[in-house]
Amino acid sequence: MKIELICTGSELLNGTINTNAGFIGSKLCSIGQELCLITEVSDKKEDLKKVFNSAISRSNVIIITGGLGPTFDDITVESVSECLNIPVYNDERVLENIKKYFLKRGKVFPEVNKKQANIIKSAKILENRFGTAPGQMLHFDFKDNDKSVRKTLFLLPGPPREMQGIFNDNVEPFLKSYSVGIRKCACIGVFGLAESEIEELIKPVIDEARFGYDSAVDFGILANDSFVKIKFSVSGRDEIFIDEIINKLKSGFSNILKDNIFGFEDDTLASVVGRLLIAKKKTISLAESCTGGKIASAITDIPGSSLYLKSAMVVYSNESKIKLLGVKEDTISNFGAVSEQTAKEMAEAVLRLSNTDYALSVTGIAGPGGAKKDKPVGLVYIGLSSKRRTEIFKFVFSGQREQIRRYAVNTSLDLLRRRLTKLGVLDRSSDRN
Ligand code: ATP
Ligand code: MG
Repeated sequence: MKIELICTGSELLNGTINTNAGFIGSKLCSIGQELCLITEVSDKKEDLKKVFNSAISRSNVIIITGGLGPTFDDITVESVSECLNIPVYNDERVLENIKKYFLKRGKVFPEVNKKQANIIKSAKILENRFGTAPGQMLHFDFKDNDKSVRKTLFLLPGPPREMQGIFNDNVEPFLKSYSVGIRKCACIGVFGLAESEIEELIKPVIDEARFGYDSAVDFGILANDSFVKIKFSVSGRDEIFIDEIINKLKSGFSNILKDNIFGFEDDTLASVVGRLLIAKKKTISLAESCTGGKIASAITDIPGSSLYLKSAMVVYSNESKIKLLGVKEDTISNFGAVSEQTAKEMAEAVLRLSNTDYALSVTGIAGPGGAKKDKPVGLVYIGLSSKRRTEIFKFVFSGQREQIRRYAVNTSLDLLRRRLTKLGVLDRSSDRN
């Protein structure tokens, strides 16, 4: 069964991230289905009609997200109706529900919203628990040469929360009933090794899996800034067997990649560090310069992080390093703000001031300016302090300003992770690209 996704919205073509595609893709993977195509298309009727006409000629199930709203650029229902030559009617019950939605929130019903009750004739109305426009499911016949082929269309709203609600309630159960087998996905997060190194190292495990098992095993390696994700899926009919293969692959990868593996599935460096701090009942504080609060931001992205993050200071200027943290003036004038000595004093000061078990400090040159003769752009010192000892790590990251800052954030979190798991530290202290 071929399933394809069309995401409407001119904003998607202007750089807004298509999270609906990510959600639907991974949901389908978990039920043993997959998308054969994802198209992002503008809010222009002629563009959507072109894309929809080719979609119905090649796929059995077409899912369209977006364009069910009340404004002039919401053209999904009209476009589909014109392509399929099926009329649209204004559904009284849907209209009533939309009016009630506004009433409940103490708002006047805007006449333009009447359009959201436009339903394609014979479509099933899919309740939207989080918004006004319902989703729609339509079975229709498509003439393929002499044959007539039954196809299914889902219209879902664009806002992710609304789309996800209708997808979970209606689309997933429908597609699940067509799944012939089971497909399970897994993901391993690796830090401290380049993509090519990982590929070389894990090749024997992949080869063994590809040739050794009946079940289809698919692998993919995704490199992000400074970390890599190994994704794989296993399909078959026997769930116990599939789980066995997944576990075998995970332990195969773990034996090779060892402590470079920071987590599994949706784990991030920040979530893993958070779990470790909670498990060990430890607290952390931060003194950030070139990362400008990004480590604090990554840590506080994790719900419950108040259990372990006590304080985070952004000490961007020399003055605040001295006045707020108590870094010695002499240290900065003798060695510079970007130096091993300053990083050490920053970490020790914030540890003391915040009274935490651990402290991280970061000071570096993110560029594009600021380089000196012996201090290139990308030079970053990271301090990691505990009541017993302080370690300073020196890196020269390459890339643009944002990339250097992301490397600094992730490397800081990884150093803390390794300290917490007592796995030692990175054995390389320079450029990791
Ligand atoms: P509305 O009633 O809000 O207009 P709609 O069904 O018409 O809903 P759109 O107008 O296409 O949907 O999108 C509404 C908003 O939902 C967009 O501004 C965007 O923030 C978000 N959105 C739409 N599509 C996506 C997508 N594929 N990924 C992430 N966000 C999306
Ligand atoms: Mg809209």
